[in-house]
Amino acid sequence: MQTDQQAAIADQYGVLIGGTERDASSGETIDVFDPATGNQLTSVAAATEGDVNEAVDVAQDGFETWSGYTPAKRCRILNDVGRAIRDEKERLARIETLENGKPLSEARGQIERAARHFEYYGGLADKIEGESIPLDDDHVDYTIREPLGVTGHIVPWNVPAYLFARSVAPALAAGNAAVVKPAEETPIGALELSKALHENGVPEVAVNVVPGEGDPAGATLSGHPDIGTITFTGSTVTGRAVGKAAIDNLTEPHLELGGKSPLVVYEDGDLDVAVEETIKGIFSTNTGQVCSASSRVLVHDDVSDAYVDKLVAAVEELTIGPGVDDHDVGPLASASHMEKVAKYFDIGREEVGEPMTGGHVLDRDGYYVEPTVFADVPQDARILQEEVFGPVLTVSMFADEAEAIRRSNDVDYGLVAGVITTDMGKAHRFARDVDAGQIYVNEWFAGGNETPFGGFKDSGIGRENGTQAIHNYTQIKNVCLDISN
Ligand code: NAD
Repeated sequence: MQTDQQAAIADQYGVLIGGTERDASSGETIDVFDPATGNQLTSVAAATEGDVNEAVDVAQDGFETWSGYTPAKRCRILNDVGRAIRDEKERLARIETLENGKPLSEARGQIERAARHFEYYGGLADKIEGESIPLDDDHVDYTIREPLGVTGHIVPWNVPAYLFARSVAPALAAGNAAVVKPAEETPIGALELSKALHENGVPEVAVNVVPGEGDPAGATLSGHPDIGTITFTGSTVTGRAVGKAAIDNLTEPHLELGGKSPLVVYEDGDLDVAVEETIKGIFSTNTGQVCSASSRVLVHDDVSDAYVDKLVAAVEELTIGPGVDDHDVGPLASASHMEKVAKYFDIGREEVGEPMTGGHVLDRDGYYVEPTVFADVPQDARILQEEVFGPVLTVSMFADEAEAIRRSNDVDYGLVAGVITTDMGKAHRFARDVDAGQIYVNEWFAGGNETPFGGFKDSGIGRENGTQAIHNYTQIKNVCLDISN
């Protein structure tokens, strides 16, 4: 077993139910690997259907306790949680790098964002207000926003701590109790963060973690009749199944799914900015394993040669290596994911020929592939239409604004879209006409915890982040009084 003193990863992790960490009821475990080396880091309990049912039962008690705290007390506790996570930033960042592979500096940023989520939603916990609605002289009418009870959260492996915090923090702020199913590959962050929540005043029964396989652990949670909502972050294929299971119980699903997001480079845009934002959007952030990656560039014919030359030169400068050494590009998160990305190298070669750069799995321990650029990619190519979820970029050319917008929209996804231009008219027309939940102008990944995030089309249902997310975890009750006598 690989050890790392600073991360202090335990040899074994269990299910965490009501503050007790124990084996799965079947005794089954899942091995967890360091993608930088391929060595085993630890193992984690594989929760069964019975374990998930127990976690939901316990969370119902958690809801009674936690929702009984005053909003001001929940506010103070969630702020304490934020501070505690920040105090432990180095250790938690190291854990994220070891289980997921991303560069350490990026992991630090993600832990900071997780801490910020608890502060942000802590700040909102005592501001979840209703409205009074004017009717007539005989009535008084007002609304109350009430919590939903037990909320389910299914998290993917690409940003485990931040995505845990993104939905658990608003759910707790609104007074709910949570059951969380982390990804098989990266369960440690969710377990360690939950312990930080318990140590800082969130009742142990109010946050429960059931690591395990998608089926049964995730499937049992999403189809559980006693949860008030399910927030699923992951692939579009699994999201459809989770959504259907939830709707069967008339439980509202929030689905944060995949993307194939366009970065449009207009002829008046700054090419250095365009290259920098492309590198950040698809290569140096989590090795392209980001839902909102800039995975397809559309560049104006007049500047396409200059852009591709600059881009390829910059890509070839990137260093590749273990996240703990803070290289520009880390490994992919798992051996199976590396195989999936490598298949897209083959698909791309068949569809458009040799890439401009990259296109190989690296012959070393760990799960490394080269950052890869395919140029002159037609709109119907699979490497342009399908989410690769790795450091693989397609570059295509366009002649005018209408073509740029048409091609931006011509995929099934609609998560984010970006534009590089100095012409604000073009930027606003792009923002108006492109079907995506977020529009970035001259900066990829612009925005933050405070700004709504979610997808159009096959990229999902609902929005996370910002004040909007509180609505995901509350329901409105309308109260109307006859005051005529
Ligand atoms: P995935 O769908 O394979 O798995 C996500 C989670 O769902 C895991 O915890 C998994 O165990 C669980 N799961 C698997 N089968 C299940 C089932 N039948 N029922 C319930 N849960 C099940 O996705 P992944 O490969 O882990 O993550 C990558 C995907 O996530 C990409 O498509 C990426 O774009 C997307 N993603 C989206 C966002 C967003 O905010 N929109 C953020 C991060 C990742």
